[in-house]
Amino acid sequence: MSIAAAEILPDKRVTSFVKERRKLLIDGKWVDAASGKTFPVQNPATGEVIAHVAEGDRQDIDRAVKAARRAFESGAWPRLTPSERGRLVWKLGDLILENLEELAELESLDNGKPVTVARAADVPLAADLFHYMAGWATKIEGNTIQLSVPYAPGVKFHAYTLREPVGVVGQIIPWNFPFLMAAWKLGPALATGCTVVLKPAEETPLSALRLGELILEAGFPDGVVNIVTGFGETAGAALAAHPGIDKVAFTGSTEVGKLILQAAVNDLKKVSLELGGKSPNIVLRDANLDIAIPGAASAIFFNHGQCCCAGSRLFVQQSIFDKVVEGVADRAKQIKVGPGLDPDTEMGPMVSESQFNRVCGYIESGLSEGAKAVAGGRKRDGKGYFVEPTVLVDTTPDMKVIREEIFGPVVTAIPFKELDDDLVRAANDTVYGLASAVWTKDISKAHSLAGKLKAGTVWINCYNIFDAALPFGGYKQSGFFFFNVKESIEIYTQKKSVCAAL
Ligand code: NAP
Ligand code: MG
Repeated sequence: MSIAAAEILPDKRVTSFVKERRKLLIDGKWVDAASGKTFPVQNPATGEVIAHVAEGDRQDIDRAVKAARRAFESGAWPRLTPSERGRLVWKLGDLILENLEELAELESLDNGKPVTVARAADVPLAADLFHYMAGWATKIEGNTIQLSVPYAPGVKFHAYTLREPVGVVGQIIPWNFPFLMAAWKLGPALATGCTVVLKPAEETPLSALRLGELILEAGFPDGVVNIVTGFGETAGAALAAHPGIDKVAFTGSTEVGKLILQAAVNDLKKVSLELGGKSPNIVLRDANLDIAIPGAASAIFFNHGQCCCAGSRLFVQQSIFDKVVEGVADRAKQIKVGPGLDPDTEMGPMVSESQFNRVCGYIESGLSEGAKAVAGGRKRDGKGYFVEPTVLVDTTPDMKVIREEIFGPVVTAIPFKELDDDLVRAANDTVYGLASAVWTKDISKAHSLAGKLKAGTVWINCYNIFDAALPFGGYKQSGFFFFNVKESIEIYTQKKSVCAAL
């Protein structure tokens, strides 16, 4: 494993962006935190501090919410036509593409992911999301309804529904796809005419702040998007509980999702949650192993396993178990682990020291409970938060590595005998229900299983396929509501019935 992050310098624009102390975006201006405090941001490939960012807190959240309220109720934003609003959202997508290389490097430096992945996936997907959502701005519609009110005989009514923006939205995002998650949140909010206070994850605030600059460059009126960097327990909690917020949109762990829900109870804010997962990835004996083996490896190792939908429980039919496990383990051993900015890197470091310790802790717990590592399983010494891609076998259903979300490059391979109710029960035996996959050449088996898996997404002979037009959301403790597509327009709008007696 080559660790040469310190020598691999990013693009000049990235270097100058991180050199400057980064501030909060409130009411169209870059301002210091009211407390004057900042916090350091690390490069996870080296552990070195690369930037200092304002540490927003309750007072800053309050300033940002007030700015968002003013922008929602008066000024240029509510006066824009849907088409003008859509054009601004489209322009933001264009600006992202114009700055693609810089954004990809910034994301890689801050999060640790391979720059090749950020360049090919995170940043273009974010641009695509804004372009897709721009089109929805002009397609927000209600219905006309024919009434038959029995106690008003002879009276005719003209009744219809309207969809109005839900208002000021607090958005809290995680560190695994910092830029893309910001886009997923902002796209539908802006397309529908809401205003936003966004709180990025403390580990990865940089690309959202650069996005803030592009938002100003695109010409969004002041206060439409406010970005407050800071910590979850302070800034995040203040945002979730703020009475001036109409809706909270959260992506992160199920544990914090529950806190968000509790914070919203007092004034019954609208809440949408995208939470964790422990997804079953099922390989049947008739699968095309030339695609299933690399597919199963990529399902867990993509983004270092720091994916809510990672295929972390690999179910393989008994007769092909050894072959598939060997193939996935071989792939794990070949993966080039290194600093994200190295163009040859396939897997970068964990995002932070605490995430590194958490993942290593899970590996140790699995091994101490009797699981065996057929690939990886060891810590990497030296600078940076690198974990070996790990394949565990000989697990039992009650082990922590089977029950809990590891959020790292660790897959547990589990054999099964037949495609029967026991397999379905085992696959669904989790509090989560985000994603799943089936690998088989038999189309009827695939669709039959797709109907039985309690997961918001079922991939067949593929994994980690995302598109702005493909709904994404969870069953059970993986969250409420689906994202992307029309449904996300619906959750950022409030329905209203209008009924007129003629
Ligand atoms: P996390 O700890 O839940 O943090 C997510 C966000 O919530 C961060 O901005 C965090 O701030 C903030 N936060 C923490 N405590 C808070 C509180 N008490 N009140 C309000 N906000 C608070 O999650 P993470 O570790 O960053 O991300 C990993 C998790 O996200 C995994 O469980 C993963 O499955 C999930 N995820 C789900 C999806 C999906 O679409 N379903 C997508 C991506 C990730 P700090 O950064 O300061 O802690
Ligand atoms: Mg966190």
